[in-house]
Amino acid sequence: ADQADPDSNKKTLVILGTGWGSVSLLKKLDTENYNVVIISPRNYFLFTPLLPSCTTGTIEHRSIMEPVRNFLRHKKAAVTFYEADATKIDYEKKIVYINDGSDVKGATSSNEVPFDMLVVGVGAENATFGIPGVREHACFLKEVNDAQQIRKRIMDCCETSTFKDQSPEEIKRLLHMVVVGGGPTGVEFAGELQDFFSNDLKKWIPDIKENFHVTLVEALPNVLPMFSKQLIEYTEKTFKEETITIRTKTTVKNVTDKYIEAESTGPDGKKVLEKIPYGLLVWATGNALRPVVKDLMSQIPAQKDSRRGLVVNEYLVVKGTENIWAVGDCAIANYAPTAQVAAQEGAFLARLFNQMARTEEIEMELKHLSHVQEVAPSKEKRDEVFAQIKDLQRRLRRVKQMGPFEYSHQGSLAYIGSEKAVADISWLTGNFATGGTLTYFFWRSAYLSMCFSTRNRILVIVDWVKAKMFGRDVSRE
Ligand code: FAD
Ligand code: NAD
Repeated sequence: ADQADPDSNKKTLVILGTGWGSVSLLKKLDTENYNVVIISPRNYFLFTPLLPSCTTGTIEHRSIMEPVRNFLRHKKAAVTFYEADATKIDYEKKIVYINDGSDVKGATSSNEVPFDMLVVGVGAENATFGIPGVREHACFLKEVNDAQQIRKRIMDCCETSTFKDQSPEEIKRLLHMVVVGGGPTGVEFAGELQDFFSNDLKKWIPDIKENFHVTLVEALPNVLPMFSKQLIEYTEKTFKEETITIRTKTTVKNVTDKYIEAESTGPDGKKVLEKIPYGLLVWATGNALRPVVKDLMSQIPAQKDSRRGLVVNEYLVVKGTENIWAVGDCAIANYAPTAQVAAQEGAFLARLFNQMARTEEIEMELKHLSHVQEVAPSKEKRDEVFAQIKDLQRRLRRVKQMGPFEYSHQGSLAYIGSEKAVADISWLTGNFATGGTLTYFFWRSAYLSMCFSTRNRILVIVDWVKAKMFGRDVSRE
């Protein structure tokens, strides 16, 4: 379809973001009911569950990206897409202000996008808790360029460690890979990195064999707090076998370019501050609010007390508003900030909006019919129209009967390295927990079936086969 001309009879629905929430909304939305405008700095959807695999080249990043244009071209009615950041949402004026942050900028006279309805699906940014040095020195793991940066840095550390005349301390430092945050992101990355070393790096660069080491630092007493005790123990045991060091009860307080300062609590309860040298530092301590969301919250009195995100009601309406909805990591609806939740919320909103459009359509038709009935020339005609009205009213009641959003948890799954994964799967036998190689195969096939397009599925399989046959590519781009 061509670029949409806004139809003045239709409401303008603006959707922010092209992540799990917004794209799953878009996929199920009947776009002919609204003037749909999508705004996102990313012109693609990113399949985040496989992002840790891109840091080591097990999977190439383009295999888990899907251009948003690919979703749009299959829609019945044209959808407008602006590759830009929403910099501010003016709630009173119903305007989103946008900024094209990419290199090539258009000569546009206005950066305002008006809306009747707005969906905020901008996700979250990386939490640093204001800890000094994190933004300057650490790598994050949220977007494609983060994964590319990590991949380069791993190889840079390895190559530099074998450089001429390095001191033993410097070699040790360069080959110390430190991951901060024992949530699923940190655990999956640590597992992938150790795999990379065990399967490939140590064969390609035997010199690093003695000193390459992965350490996972976690402030709480254990990693993966959302998993059952049994799976936490399984993960910790597997990491030990893989020779990944887990440092629990250790909180990072400061970061410099060559070491982190961490406070750990010993068995006697005493706190010790120590310097841990690193070559690569990956920071995975969870989510923080994006400025555009924080600013919107400050305009709505009902959001004043919320710290973590936009509080929504059971229909995902942002509390204190009537025409703004929120999905995914930026919304607070009592669920964990996961892709699973975001995708289900997006799909729910699509149903809701499709239903709202149908309701309006039927109401207009009813209005028209009651007029026809009034001016009908004969009793037969009046009775005929009356029957039509009854029928429509029944349909309207049925359409309006849409229940609130209910999340259905399919289970949690995390890859922990050496072809093992842990899973809490609720739909098998009540609450079933499993771990191990079988789970790993299940994990792989589950992700493949979740992957958005056939194209992505094939690309990911090819990458897996390539890595198995030839080893991962260790060239530093
Ligand atoms: P996102 O998917 O982050 O999308 C946000 C979108 O908004 C992006 O397109 C972004 O470009 C855009 N955006 C940002 N700022 C603006 C702005 N100012 N204006 C307009 N658009 C903007 N969850 C699981 O359930 N299972 C997993 O296995 C899993 N693995 C993960 C692995 C990693 C490495 C990471 C980082 C997360 C993982 N998650 C997983 C969590 C999951 O990715 C998130 O919960 C999910 O992405 C949230 O969806 P979202 O739509 O809210 O945000
Ligand atoms: P998280 O919030 O789950 O974990 C962050 C961890 O960092 C916490 O355990 C916290 O105690 C620790 N931490 C915070 N500050 C610290 C400090 N200064 N020093 C040491 N440790 C510190 O974050 P995440 O792993 O990025 O996950 C974010 C969300 O994405 C979660 O909801 C998660 O479920 C989801 N996710 C899911 C999967 C999966 O299902 N496989 C994978 C990745 C992410």
